[in-house]
Amino acid sequence: MMKKPFVTKAQVEEIAKNYPTPFYIYDEKGIIENAKAVHEAFAWNKGFKEYFAVKATPNPRLMEILMNEGCGFDCSSATELMLSSAVGAKGSDIMFSSNDTPASEFVYADKIGAIINLDDFTHIDFLEKTIGKIPEVISCRYNPGGVFKMSNGIMDNPGDSKYGMTKDQLFEAYKILKSKGAKKFGIHAFLASNTVSNDYYPTLAGQLFELAVELEKETGADIAFINLSGGVGIPYRPDQTGNDIYAIGKGVEEQYNRVLVPAGMGDVAIYTEMGRFMMAPYGALVTKAIHEKHIYKEYIGVDACAVNLMRPAMYGAYHHITVLGKEDAPLDHVYDVTGSLCENNDKFAIERPLPKIDKGDYLFIHDAGAHGFAMGYNYNGKLKSAELLLKKDGSVELIRRAETARDYFATFDSCDIYSKLTEIMDSENC
Ligand SMILES: *Cc1c(COP(=O)(O)O)cnc(C)c1O
Repeated sequence: MMKKPFVTKAQVEEIAKNYPTPFYIYDEKGIIENAKAVHEAFAWNKGFKEYFAVKATPNPRLMEILMNEGCGFDCSSATELMLSSAVGAKGSDIMFSSNDTPASEFVYADKIGAIINLDDFTHIDFLEKTIGKIPEVISCRYNPGGVFKMSNGIMDNPGDSKYGMTKDQLFEAYKILKSKGAKKFGIHAFLASNTVSNDYYPTLAGQLFELAVELEKETGADIAFINLSGGVGIPYRPDQTGNDIYAIGKGVEEQYNRVLVPAGMGDVAIYTEMGRFMMAPYGALVTKAIHEKHIYKEYIGVDACAVNLMRPAMYGAYHHITVLGKEDAPLDHVYDVTGSLCENNDKFAIERPLPKIDKGDYLFIHDAGAHGFAMGYNYNGKLKSAELLLKKDGSVELIRRAETARDYFATFDSCDIYSKLTEIMDSENC
């Protein structure tokens, strides 16, 4: 499938007059249409809720858009909980799926009434000691161990992952939580990441539904929701076929009707915590070619670097690149597209066939809307970019300004050197 940018060269030239590259841009129309499709696909389930995984794209303006479409928020830290509160999410609209959780974060999650999803058996005791009670609604994260297999092979390796409880621990946990006053229970599992297959959720759902029936029978716990978590992927490569959310919803419904309904559990709510699927295709990093270099290979140097988008450097992840204005030009050059970090893995593409790139060309790096800006860091003293929203009416809104030197040095404000830094920043107008 051709990957088509959601902005044109002319639009980017206009935008760049106000907001210099590099910048992130998000497509409001795409986000809304996709969120509507997700809700339609699961409309058969009365209690369905998508808790957007805030870690994927922690921008309050984008969170608001999703909340207007009926999403709640899945948080993994205090600051993500604060963001969710700030945009108006309350109580059970917030899921706290954390691990290795600091006590203070349990305290805050409880204070705002978020649903707490316990990652470990020992956290029952830890939570009770920390907040002085066991909440009436509580969820536990399950890890079946071994490998997660589907008809087309092994998808991932839960046995090697740090998350969740063993099956025995899960049964024991429900009994203990029930005896300590919990009234409504959830089951959560995240067993494979970035799956590009309509079978992942249905396969996972089938396993969790069978487990739920067993759990209810053996422990008497009232299972109110089953949380399929994240892991629904997107086609980063143009030759991949994307997931069909309607087929996924239908596949989960079939499992629901096969397992839960006959067991008298037809009132269980389905929850999801998708991040990537909700946002990745609807965000892009736009960067300008500023150098070309001809040594043993051909290099194009751009004004963004791994600080802005870490996935290629971190996982060797593929992100498709379109050179704006050259959408139909032949891919007759082979380039490494690099950032400026003093790290040789700072490359957005390696030996990638692309059209001839000239200095000043704008590159649209696709599918950066999730786990993109969010993973940013400040290595080499590089600063994070602005985030922009391309609204439905075609206008552009600044939804996070670019970081400045002042932001970068702000944490030295308790140190003697800060006045000298301030003097320099003042004289440099930053
Ligand atoms: C990362 C994460 C998600 C979101 O995963 P995606 O692959 O982006 O859908 C959901 N839930 C939990 C607990 C996570 O850690």
